[in-house]
Amino acid sequence: MIKECILGAVEARYGGTTTATLSGDRSASQPDDCCADGVAPGGDCVLTARDKAASSFEAFIYQTWGAGIARYFAIPYNRKLWKVPLTEMETSWLGGRVPLPDLGQIIEGALTPAGKPVGPNARFGYPLRGGFQALMSGFLPLLKGPLVTGAEVTAIFPREHIAVLADGRSYRYEQLISTLPLPVLLRMAGSEVPAEVAAAAEGLRHTSVRCVNLGVGRADLTEKHWIYYPEETIFHRIFVQGNASPWCNPPGGCGLTCEISYSDKMPLPMDGQALTDRCIAECISVGIINEDDAILTANQVDIPYAYVIYDHAREKNVALAREWLQHYDITLAGRYSEWEYYNSDHAFLAGKHAAEKVCAQPRSRAATLPPR
Ligand SMILES: Cc1cc2nc3c(=O)[nH]c(=O)nc-3n(C[C@H](O)[C@H](O)[C@H](O)COP(=O)(O)OP(=O)(O)OC[C@H]3O[C@@H](n4cnc5c(N)ncnc54)[C@H](O)[C@@H]3O)c2cc1C
Repeated sequence: MIKECILGAVEARYGGTTTATLSGDRSASQPDDCCADGVAPGGDCVLTARDKAASSFEAFIYQTWGAGIARYFAIPYNRKLWKVPLTEMETSWLGGRVPLPDLGQIIEGALTPAGKPVGPNARFGYPLRGGFQALMSGFLPLLKGPLVTGAEVTAIFPREHIAVLADGRSYRYEQLISTLPLPVLLRMAGSEVPAEVAAAAEGLRHTSVRCVNLGVGRADLTEKHWIYYPEETIFHRIFVQGNASPWCNPPGGCGLTCEISYSDKMPLPMDGQALTDRCIAECISVGIINEDDAILTANQVDIPYAYVIYDHAREKNVALAREWLQHYDITLAGRYSEWEYYNSDHAFLAGKHAAEKVCAQPRSRAATLPPR
């Protein structure tokens, strides 16, 4: 397997010749701040012009990583995650999201354990206490207006600048910042949406993820944070929540999240306790837990909109929807609203940018409408 991966990577780069330097092929690209944290990473997650020119994600995999890595990891893993043929996906989202080692690093990594962390998420931060909620809670003392939670928006009337909640309350807005998934937002606007925009919204594709969380009665399961499974397991990835911070675990235990991708066309093969049982059995079979490990607790979290699919029509469809909404003072902010592959750092910045944009707007005509 290692021989196939190395040869595949060499052939992908040089078509069989090995006269070029092993690291020179990616050096033309300048790293930028792809993690949006003020630090430009090494060149190992930056797309070259050649990467960007790939006709599809599948073509990118073969030309960048080679046939061996494609066969044993990149193709089966990505098919499992995205649930669409990889030829239907483009490559603009890849910079900063996948490791793009040069040939020298690929060979070194195949032969020896990695000397230094490689890839965009080799370095990451996580709140020591309180999980991700701690990040949100930090903003609460700074809010000047009332904060209403558990309030589900069910309808929008863009022309009148009105948002309606599930409990019947409605609000008139001057500027609306939406974090709702873009197709959901447009569906809520109903018949006001022109047919062309509605069609663009319905053309946006996504995958869903079911997280099966397991609390295991043993602390030293692994030192890893994320483990990727291209094989036949039902989960494509395990996030070792317990290793994000020691405060995520009770003493002597460790939390795992088994992430299972699904879609309308490829639904979960089972649900409920059967799904949890399957995850436990497969955690044992891949060796992350032992048969005699106690499962102290388990639950499931469903994420209906989890990953935006970068198909070839996404950019055009998003632009059309965004332009129409902007006309009615609706600004999109975040991963599902902007329909972008944002991680949480980008999502925070998206909120900041949206707030700055709205604050810079002149008062809209809706400001003169009577309150509802
Ligand atoms: C499986 C998985 C693993 C991930 N792992 C990581 C990771 O390790 N690190 C990382 O940085 N990022 C990770 N991400 C990405 C990260 O979760 C997102 O980037 C981030 O949550 C996006 O934030 P957001 O505010 O744009 O969207 P969301 O977090 O989805 O927030 C949208 C908000 O809109 C609200 N909303 C939606 N509909 C309505 C409605 N009708 N009425 C009222 N409110 C509504 C929701 O309740 C929610 O509060 C992961 C994502 C997934 C799916």
